[in-house]
Amino acid sequence: MARPDWPPDPCQPARPGRHGPGLRHNGLVNADVVVIGVGTLGLSTALHCALAGRSVVVVESHTAGSRSWGADVREAAPAQLAGQLSYYQPTGDDFALWCPEDIYIDEPASLIRAFLPACQRRGAAVTENEPVTGISLTAGHVTGVETGRRSITAPVVVDAAGGWVRQTAGLAGARVPVTTVRHQLLITAPMAQVDPGEPIARVVDAAVYLRPAHGGLMFGGFEPDPLPVDPGHEPGSFSTDDILLDLGVLRQLVAQIAAEVPAASTAEVAEHRGGMFTMSPDGRFVAGPVPDLPGLWVASGCNGSGFSSSLAIGEALATWITSDAPPPGMAALSPGWFGPLPDAALLTRSLWQYAHYYDPIADAQAPHTQAGVPGRNTGAFS
Ligand SMILES: Cc1cc2nc3c(=O)[nH]c(=O)nc-3n(C[C@H](O)[C@H](O)[C@H](O)COP(=O)(O)OP(=O)(O)OC[C@H]3O[C@@H](n4cnc5c(N)ncnc54)[C@H](O)[C@@H]3O)c2cc1C
Repeated sequence: MARPDWPPDPCQPARPGRHGPGLRHNGLVNADVVVIGVGTLGLSTALHCALAGRSVVVVESHTAGSRSWGADVREAAPAQLAGQLSYYQPTGDDFALWCPEDIYIDEPASLIRAFLPACQRRGAAVTENEPVTGISLTAGHVTGVETGRRSITAPVVVDAAGGWVRQTAGLAGARVPVTTVRHQLLITAPMAQVDPGEPIARVVDAAVYLRPAHGGLMFGGFEPDPLPVDPGHEPGSFSTDDILLDLGVLRQLVAQIAAEVPAASTAEVAEHRGGMFTMSPDGRFVAGPVPDLPGLWVASGCNGSGFSSSLAIGEALATWITSDAPPPGMAALSPGWFGPLPDAALLTRSLWQYAHYYDPIADAQAPHTQAGVPGRNTGAFS
């Protein structure tokens, strides 16, 4: 049943909450934290800042939901491989690993739909169809954002604008070290032999993954020659729907596993989807304060894992924002750790990360480990 108070009217005051910012038609709105973007990283950061007692406004240009280390990894016996994946036919020389924690949710948008009411219950206001057009600065400090409708003042602004993160940070003259790259997947028409309860399979040699979805098989992969997508060079109306999809790329990837998963090559395609990954030069999240611009924070560099990691990243980032000290491990994700990385090196290294998504051992040959290339892996991490 539809909730009478959802979606919220951005021109109405937020539901009374202990720390709700309250939004009005026009004029100044005060908040402790403004988050730009209602992706999972933005919403998780907003929710955890609200849980820490901060007043939060999340500003979204479109609408919401439009789209471990220490992991338990064990070698899987051939019988297990054959018995747990009805859609996969082992060839006999497969080496398989079983990761019980590698779970998935059927539709990622359901995570957004879970975050939204959680944010609202904690008094965080989410406004839609309100692009951030400016980031306000006073004496070198971020003091809020400008939208077409109003000014929102806040000492903390979190840029969680996904594929647009670089353009948004650019509003304040800042630079975020990520490259936006196309990623595609397809879902086949329903197939009787696919058991919807079965696990995801990641075929590392072929850089592909498969899992049950909508009664059929979902299939995606990492093309060896990735396509960068720069919304900054596209018209202002550019959205993920405008990304050039290429079924041929997926066909080539799936051809590599025709023997193991014959159905993936032959089944009818029910849905072909694509979007953007924000790839970082070392394949890790980019989350933390922007150097030399007090008040501006970034939650990005999803590297294709923004849904699965958003709860942890958002919580840790909110702890850093509200306590002023990085939780363990977070300083290593800070955008400042890369130093002055030229655009060409950023592009080369980020595309390498995409193309070697399932190939971390090749890290020794990665561009960032080569002499003379600055970056966080060649500094404190090498
Ligand atoms: C095909 C595909 C499959 C994927 N599969 C997985 C998976 O299996 N597991 C996983 O963990 N991750 C997966 N991902 C990655 C995942 O989608 C992202 O990591 C996740 O969505 C996090 O994104 P985000 O929060 O950084 O940004 P987004 O979700 O892109 O949100 C950013 C938001 O900011 C808004 N915005 C931009 N500019 C402005 C502005 N100026 N003002 C206001 N708002 C603005 C945008 O409209 C957008 O809504 C997949 C991605 C794709 C494309």
